[in-house]
Formats: sequence, structure tokens, C-alpha cells
Amino acid sequence: MGQTAVVTGSSRGIGRGIAVSLAEAGYDIMVNYSRNEDAAEDTAREVRDRGVEAGICQADIADTDQGRRLIDSTLDRFGRLDLLVNNAGIAPRVRADILEAESESYDEVMSTNLRGPYFLTQYAANWMIELKAAGKIDKGRIVIISSISAFAVSTSRGEYCVSKAGLSMMTALFADRLAEHGITVNEIQPGIIQTDMTGQVKEKYDRLIADGLNPIRRWGQPDDIGKAVAAIALGYLDFTTGAAIPVDGGFHLKRF
Ligand code: NAD
Repeated sequence: MGQTAVVTGSSRGIGRGIAVSLAEAGYDIMVNYSRNEDAAEDTAREVRDRGVEAGICQADIADTDQGRRLIDSTLDRFGRLDLLVNNAGIAPRVRADILEAESESYDEVMSTNLRGPYFLTQYAANWMIELKAAGKIDKGRIVIISSISAFAVSTSRGEYCVSKAGLSMMTALFADRLAEHGITVNEIQPGIIQTDMTGQVKEKYDRLIADGLNPIRRWGQPDDIGKAVAAIALGYLDFTTGAAIPVDGGFHLKRF
């Protein structure tokens, strides 16, 4: 059996792009979704079209018990877990100024974008340690999809920025702790990527991109992120851990 990856939130958007790129890299995929089973089936079909296996598992990753069930289902189905991609995430339902934003939105965003992935990673990492010791996997790899919002300020969605900055520290912590077990942990920081999440602000971003916000003047696409994850999955960054890798058309460059 080939290597196996779990990609959270892979029914659409960046998660689907990652699942397909990993399938092209030869990985079997556990597709995770929270609500839209038909969309998850579509991703699974695209994965199988690449000649590898796909399972699908409903689990709300904000709920730590459901996160555990996702990993358990992957092990039941594939007998191994080589790669966890923490991709699922949400934007605040309402963009509200940090002087007015509500604590309910903060709690919702933080539990989905940070608390859930934190404990999912803890659970998956413990399994990877066990699988490695048993000789069932060769290497463990964990990828965390954060954002340019880990460092770029947006005062109308503070909770999102805080959650993504938290993922950066989470990457560093798990990278340090897991290195002795041969497990790498890296963060990918997507820039502006064309998905449903950015659909509501498309015109605004069209303008910003045309005006040169990114040195590379185009929208990012889900497969731009998928290819970066595939590079890690294929072992091209095996001496890299705890890194924040920008895949953002150069957005992160300070220019004047
Ligand atoms: P999207 O809204 O199109 O897709 C997000 C996916 O995550 C959906 O399939 C959704 O169902 C799933 N999801 C959300 N909450 C979940 C939960 N509790 N449990 C399980 N699945 C859940 O968004 P996207 O643009 O594809 O974003 C994917 C990731 O990339 C997110 O973490 C997002 O913050 C990050 N990101 C996106 C952009 C961008 O410009 N689109 C930029 C930087 C970072």
C-alpha cells in the first residue's frame, strides 16, 4: 500500500487542490469534510482518477473527539498515516472592527482554526510515533496551512489573524518536539487564493492584485498550494522543519 495523507477540509478549495496534488504524487487520501458530502465525493473521484485510493470521512475538526475519529478512520481504512495536512479553516462570519467584534466570533474562529488543529496534530503525532516505532511508516510529515494573515494585519478580522499567528507558534512547537521522532512539521502561508472563501471579496482583491499588491500579479490557485504540499510529501524538504513557507506571489516582501 502507498503512503497515506489526511487532508482536513478537502471537499473544496485549497484542500481539494492539495488532495489532488498529493494523489498525483502517489498518496492515498482520506478526504475530510464537515457538511457537504457530495463535494467530498467529487474530490474523492478526482483523487481516484489519479490511480490512488480515496476514503471520505465526515468530521468537524473544531470538535476534538471528531478529529480523533478522523485519524482512527484513516488508520482503519489504510493501516497507516504518513502525512497530516491541517487545511480546514474559516473566516469570521462577519468582518467586524476589532473595537466591536464579538467574543462568539472569536471563539468560533479560534476553535476551528487553532484549537481543533492543535489537538488533531497532537493525536496524529502520537500515532505517527507509534507507527514509526512499529516500522509501519518510514517518515512522518505534518503540514499546517496558515496564511499571510499570520503576519499581515487586517483589523476587520482580528480573530482570523490571531488564529493564523497561533498556527505559526504551533508549527514551531510541534516541529521542535517531533524532530527526535523523525517527523517534520512545516507551515505553508498561502497568499490570496481563488476559492469560495475569497469569493465575497473578489472585486476588492481583483483591484489590489491589478495594482501590484503581489509582485506576481495574479490570483493564487488551489494547486499552487497543492504543489508546495506535494514537494514536502515527496521528501524534497526533509531537512526542513518548523519553517513558514510563503506561497503568496511575493506578498510577504517588504518593498519601497
Ligand atoms: P474554503 O472556505 O473554500 O474551504 C475551506 C474548507 O474547510 C471547506 O471545505 C470547509 O467545509 C472546511 N471546513 C471549515 N470548517 C471545518 C470544520 N470545522 N471541520 C472540517 N472542515 C471544515 O476556504 P479555502 O480558501 O480553501 O481555505 C482553506 C484554508 O486555507 C483555510 O485554513 C484558510 O484559512 C486558508 N487560507 C486561504 C486563503 C485564501 O485566499 N483562500 C489564504 C490564506 C489561507
